[in-house]
Amino acid sequence: MKFNYSLVFQSLVDLFFPRTCLGCVSFLTPYEKGLCIGCQLQLSPTNFNLDANNPLAVKLREFIPIYAATALFYFQKGGAFTHMIHLLKYKGVKKSGAYLSHWLALSLKESPLFMDLTGILVVPLHPKKRRQRGYNQSELIAFEISSVLNKKVYPKALVRIKTPYLKLRLEKLKGGNPCKMPFVVLQIFKIKKDIFFL
Ligand SMILES: [Zn+2]
Repeated sequence: MKFNYSLVFQSLVDLFFPRTCLGCVSFLTPYEKGLCIGCQLQLSPTNFNLDANNPLAVKLREFIPIYAATALFYFQKGGAFTHMIHLLKYKGVKKSGAYLSHWLALSLKESPLFMDLTGILVVPLHPKKRRQRGYNQSELIAFEISSVLNKKVYPKALVRIKTPYLKLRLEKLKGGNPCKMPFVVLQIFKIKKDIFFL
């Protein structure tokens, strides 16, 4: 029988620094990473990454011109997934965001819809919120996906429309059409053949 050194090492580390499940806070076994088996079985994958006309993409196309859209899991109130989102959003547990982003990146990697990505965009966070939180969650997700897909992250490609004056100017540029989007892509990235993940 082959001796598994990494498993023995993990068991020793867990003895002194026990790891807990991101979904239910129970102690993880040396075989588990991030989520316990019970919580993993609770998750309902959407498989939207393999369907160009999934319900999310169809809905979003009513508002904005997108190439493809995906979501990792169906939302289930009170389950492991809810707990992980809560940890990331309200408790600042970056590990939870990194874990989900890594999973999302793997689903993008196996999808033909996201094969030709040029890069990954970061949704800008208001400076005040960034100071309060200490980091931008979107940036964390973008860099985690980048590490799996080996695509460049463009942290400053999107800018937040700060003033009503700028919003009005943009509307004027769009021929008077109301600007519903809270962000605008910088001119340098307005190249039609490029596809960005947001
Ligand atoms: Zn669990």
